Amino acid sequence: MTVTPHLAAADDTGLLDALPIAAAIIERGKDGAFAVAAHNSRFVELVERSNCTALDWNDAHCLKSGPIADLLQDFFAGANVAGELDFTDGDGVSAQFYRIKLAPLPKRNGSAVRCLLSVVDRTVELQAERTLRAEMLRDSLTGLPNRLAFTEAIENAGEKVARDLEHAVLVVDMLRFSRINESMGSLAGDELLITFARRLILALRAGDVLARTGGNEFGVLVSLRRGVEDALKAAERIRNVMAAPFKLSELEIRVECAIGVALMNAGQDPEELFRNAQFAVKQAKLAGKPQVYEPKRATEARRRFSIETELRRALDKDQLELFYQPLINLKSGEVAGFEALARWTHEDRGEISPTEFIPVAEESGLILTLGRWAMDKAAQTLAAWDRTVGEALPLYVGVNLSAIQVARDDIAAVVASALKSSGLTGDRLTLELTESSIVQDPVRATRVFDALKALDATVAMDDFGTGYSSLAYLQRLPIDVLKIDKSFVSGMMVDPDAVAIVRAVLSLAEALGMSTTAEGIETVELATTLATLGCASGQGYYFAKPLEADAALEYWKSRRRG
Ligand code: C2E
Ligand code: CA
Ligand code: CA
Repeated sequence: MTVTPHLAAADDTGLLDALPIAAAIIERGKDGAFAVAAHNSRFVELVERSNCTALDWNDAHCLKSGPIADLLQDFFAGANVAGELDFTDGDGVSAQFYRIKLAPLPKRNGSAVRCLLSVVDRTVELQAERTLRAEMLRDSLTGLPNRLAFTEAIENAGEKVARDLEHAVLVVDMLRFSRINESMGSLAGDELLITFARRLILALRAGDVLARTGGNEFGVLVSLRRGVEDALKAAERIRNVMAAPFKLSELEIRVECAIGVALMNAGQDPEELFRNAQFAVKQAKLAGKPQVYEPKRATEARRRFSIETELRRALDKDQLELFYQPLINLKSGEVAGFEALARWTHEDRGEISPTEFIPVAEESGLILTLGRWAMDKAAQTLAAWDRTVGEALPLYVGVNLSAIQVARDDIAAVVASALKSSGLTGDRLTLELTESSIVQDPVRATRVFDALKALDATVAMDDFGTGYSSLAYLQRLPIDVLKIDKSFVSGMMVDPDAVAIVRAVLSLAEALGMSTTAEGIETVELATTLATLGCASGQGYYFAKPLEADAALEYWKSRRRG
């Protein structure tokens, strides 16, 4: 339609033409109709070009009913306030978007109340915004939704949780991707990611959402009917589609993946859910199979992590201590030596058991520092006792060595340096090693054991019976002492099998020319039974708990004969 101004005053037209947008001045006639009093050429152009149904004027240039008419109604009803309306015309790709604004105009002498109506065609602007948004939500390599879009999808699903459907997020991590990428080039890496994504799609069910959430990490949002079982089935399907080798520029490679699952709780933050699934992936890598997120494990992991940080600090500040638990010669009742055991009293948490911090130290590599410290400290304590008493005491000190130390540190050098700085001879030291240090790398273990013997130190096999060392190694390696694990010792009074095992270990030791020490002797009955069975020495709460250095020396004196 063509709009012709009928009541246009010259200054009105001037005002409107100066505006960079389509605008008109609207008046309310006596009949209550809204009429165009003036307009600019942009207004005509827009109305004609767009066929905007909201701007549907009749022949008298009066606006018929519709959203804009309602807006005007409010304006003239006395509110006289600025109004704004976003209006969509049509739908799909041909949809047009308008923003319509009303602004009050100053009243002129004797004239009716008027308002300025402006119309902005936002179609192009919104389309650009949408394209940009779509771009922002898409991974350009695979064309899949990206991390941002995935979080949105989780959020949307979360709103549906209230209704019967449950959801889970699976995070799928392609293993060893960086190695493939490095060795075959990033083009091949890209190709692999695309193929991987295509296969993932094969494992999906209708309604599942797949996204690329990181370099070699994909997220899958699945809906569940039978709870966690469905999520694990989805994981199983994913593993199945990855089972066949991937063809990559002439080569066939196998690609494995780790899958972590997290179940959605009502009202859960999508980011948190996603992080939970990522945490489960880490567990899955260790376990070698899909893992479902468990809050308890995450709490443990956090505690481990903070223990690691604080243990590092404690080592720096020399806040660890060594306690000494006597090893008793079961025949004579005298103290034969002491085992050095690490103790850590944390400022806030109190005492933290070595069964908790030693594994953390092993995992983080801090065990190397801790192990060297323990070796030096134990040797120094024994040397200090010698000086206090004024002679080289008929005592040795046992120091625990972790399998990680055997694998990664130069144990012989560590021991040699402790001997040198303390002035002790090698026979005053017993190194307690576990079967796991042999199992992991027997060749290296053999070298370490031999080097320790070359220093004249004693080698004890700790926790004997709990590991998997073969008899062949026991025979071949220069082992002096078998320490029978306390689980067998404490079981002796109730479990005939435990007695049989202890007897077997004792006769094995005898056959191999080794001495024996029993750990965990808590009662006099155990002490006498073990002595009767021919066990050489024993250690346990029945004799003494681990003691501070001074108390340990006093203990030695108190049990000394003659
Ligand atoms: P382990 O080498 O088997 O040490 C013996 C453990 O048994 C010690 O626990 C000791 O306190 C405990 N024990 C001794 N007698 C009895 C008893 O009669 N009954 C019971 N129930 N327990 C008894 P602790 O001190 O808690 O140390 C635990 C483990 O931590 C040690 O087991 C050892 O594997 C490790 N550890 C401690 N200190 C060090 C260290 O300096 N270096 C390394 N690598 N490991 C250490
Ligand atoms: Ca030990
Ligand atoms: Ca033990």
